[in-house]
Parts: sequence; structure tokens; C-alpha cells
Amino acid sequence: MRLARHGKYAVEQVWDAAKGDQIPRFARDDSFFCHSEERSGEETGHTGGAPYHPYMRPLPARRLAGFGTTIFTEMTRLAALHGAINLAQGFPDFDGPDFVKEAAVAAIRAGRGQYARMTGIPEIHDALAAKYRRDYGLEYRAGDEITVTSGATEAIFATIQGISDPEDEIVLFEPYYDSYKASVLMAGAVPRFVTLEAPDWSFDVAAVERALTVRTRAILVNTPHNPTGKVFSQSELEAIARLCVERDLICITDEVYEHMVYEGRHVPMATLPGMRDRTITISSFGKTFSLTGWKIGWAMASPELSAAVRAAHQFITFATATPLQHGAACALSAGPEYYEELLAGYRARRDYLVAELARIGFAVRPPAGTYYVCADFRRFGFEDDVAFCRHLIENVGVAAIPPSAFYDRPAKGLGYVRFAFCKERRTLEAAVERLSSLSPPGRGSG
Ligand code: PMP
Ligand code: GLN
Repeated sequence: MRLARHGKYAVEQVWDAAKGDQIPRFARDDSFFCHSEERSGEETGHTGGAPYHPYMRPLPARRLAGFGTTIFTEMTRLAALHGAINLAQGFPDFDGPDFVKEAAVAAIRAGRGQYARMTGIPEIHDALAAKYRRDYGLEYRAGDEITVTSGATEAIFATIQGISDPEDEIVLFEPYYDSYKASVLMAGAVPRFVTLEAPDWSFDVAAVERALTVRTRAILVNTPHNPTGKVFSQSELEAIARLCVERDLICITDEVYEHMVYEGRHVPMATLPGMRDRTITISSFGKTFSLTGWKIGWAMASPELSAAVRAAHQFITFATATPLQHGAACALSAGPEYYEELLAGYRARRDYLVAELARIGFAVRPPAGTYYVCADFRRFGFEDDVAFCRHLIENVGVAAIPPSAFYDRPAKGLGYVRFAFCKERRTLEAAVERLSSLSPPGRGSG
């Protein structure tokens, strides 16, 4: 049976006797195929059996197989399809600050339209150096210790490409932001997982130790943490730092929610003893300035680690959009009042949504950081997060994220749903009104 066409190829279902099942197989479609006789079996080293052609391999490439489409793309698509309120993908439904937009417009008008310096424009380096000094007492030299990338996503990808040899191992905490595992696999490296255990998302340091082997290259820490909202405590960070120092490991930290900490304070891993020169600190402009579509991120690290990141970055994107870097440089020079106002706004949204979710019947704790809340929905009679999210989109009119997408073994993440509260108050109120139709089994509809 023919299932789909991919360029010159079609997918068909064939019987696999060894597996005792139908399996999808890519097959040449002659009506599309132009180069059938270009290379003989001899040239390819293929002998015997059906004529072999190198283009007949399945797509996508093996190392990407199984990635599917990201849960964010999928949920936003379904939200649009069903007219659901999108509390799934983490982007604000309000605009970023005018002073930042004006700075980018001014840069465009001033003709700053050519390639930026590969490592980022000098203005953004200066702004980041000043910001890390002011906020955390961390000294990073503009020039050789800062790399500007196309979002934190690229910084993560370039970092993992830059430090990993095939079969090196990288320790990830699950649930993890989905690009980590994909980036590790694309580097030919191997992810190892340590589980953050609900409901407080704590972890066992012994489990981290058990995940380390002679092949371990790095531990990746995301604090504040997406999707749980956890902020790693000082003692948790110290335990991870101790292992990095003892085993001579690199620490990659993803701190894109550094300015959304409601309880305690954000502690950059690089501030801990022995960690400054073994940590690659990644963050992003998009979350902090509510302009996620600008895709500007950065990696702060010692010259040696920065050189590794850049070895990859120069061939991934080379440089990111020049006028937007000018806008971001202006944004990053904002004083503390900007961050205080941002935090106050998100704290109010968090408090509102958490209180309403609890009233509706979710088991929920206020997240210590980020703009996400993970809520336990099992009181509504569902056991499976994907089924619950489908019900929410199709019958309730609200889209959310099923966190099992962020686990190596999805079965571990079944009882929770992630809501994003980076939305206007009226959006949250409309979502709450719809969610109020949910009710525990035996108490009417839902
Ligand atoms: N890390 C985490 C934990 C995230 O939630 C996101 C999503 N913004 C990113 C990285 C990617 O950031 P950016 O949009 O700057 O690529
Ligand atoms: N970081 C955002 C989230 O967690 C989405 C990022 C994306 O769409 N790739 O929802």
C-alpha cells in the first residue's frame, strides 16, 4: 500500500517476515525518478539482489528519524484548527517594549543591513558584559568570551556540536526542553537521563552520579526549568558543580528564564566555585523582552569553550540578524526597573492562574520560576496527558502541552499538563472560564 510521496520516493507498507508485521519502506517512484542508471551496483559496492541506488535510502536521515514534529508546533496547529485558546506554546500574546523595537527600526533605517560580526556585534557584547557584571558579579570579556546566536536554541545546538565527539555522553534532567535530546543525537552523542520527581521536581544526587561514566562530557542544567517551573536550589547546583569539578566535566546551563524567579533568586552555575571556566551559560533575549520571534541568544564561556561553540556556530548560521542585534543591545542596557516590572507582571499572572486551576480541581503548586505551570489533572478521571490535552483542545477549547513529550520514557510524565501563562490577563480569564467546565468524574460533564 502506498502511503506518502517524498520527492522522488514514495512510502509503502511491506511485510517484514522477521518482524511479523507491516513496516513502512521508501521505494523509488519511477514517474519522478531521473537518475536510475547513474550509478551501478558495482560502483556502490552493492552486490546481488535488487539494483541498489544510493538515493533509495529512507528519509529523513537515520539520526533524525523519530524526531517527528515538535510538540509546540503540533499544539499550536491544533489550537488554531479547533479555535482553542493557546496556553501551549510559550510565547507572549502581547508585544515587546517599544524602546527595543525602535532601536531595531533605527538600525534598519541607518543601513545596518549587512552581515554582523560572526560572534555578535560589539554593542551586544558590551551590553552583555555589563549585564552579567551588574546582575551576577560575573566578568566576561567582550570579544572572546561571548557568542551571539540565533536564539538559545542555536546556542544549545552549537554548544553540543562544539564539545561532543561521537559517543560522548551528555546528562540531561528529564523532563527536558525538547531540543536538548535532538541536539545531542544530531552530534552523534548519547543522552543519559536523570529524572526530576514530581510533585516537587527534586532529584537524587546519587542518580546523577550513576548517570556518569568515563564517556560523560557534560551535564546540562536548565534553571529556571521548563516545563516544571522548578528553580534549582543552591545546594542542588552545588552538588552538580562538585561532580563537574571532580570528574572534569563541562556544565551547560540554559538560563533563558533567569528573570522569572518568584521564590528565591536565580543562581547562575558559573558563579559557583570552580565553575566559571567549565560552564557555558546560555540565555536568550526572547523571553526577557517578550519578543520570542527575534531569535537572539548567546553563550557566555571561557575563550576555550567559546572557541568550541564558535567552531560550530560559524557554519550553522554564521551570524544572526544585524538590526535585531542592535535592538537587543539596546534592550540589554535596560536598568533594573525593567526586570522588576516584568517579574511583577508574571507573578500576578502566575498567582491568578494557579489559584484558578486549584479552584477548578487541579492539584497544583505555584512554580518558583518560568512562565509555565505544571498541574496534575488526574482528579478529572484521565490518566494520560496526551488524551487529556486532546480532550482540552477538542472539548474544552484550551490548548496545553503534554509533558510526556519531554521524557525519555514518556510513561513517567503522564499525570501532568503544562499551561503557559505568558498571556494577557483577558486571555487567561477566557481560558479559566472554559476550563471551569471540567469537573471530576461523577460531578457532571467534563
Ligand atoms: N531553552 C528553554 C528552556 C526554552 O524554554 C526555550 C524556548 N524559548 C529555549 C531554550 C529556546 O529559546 P530561543 O527562543 O531563544 O531559541
Ligand atoms: N520555549 C517555548 C515553550 O516551551 C517554545 C519554543 C518552541 O516553540 N520551540 O513553549
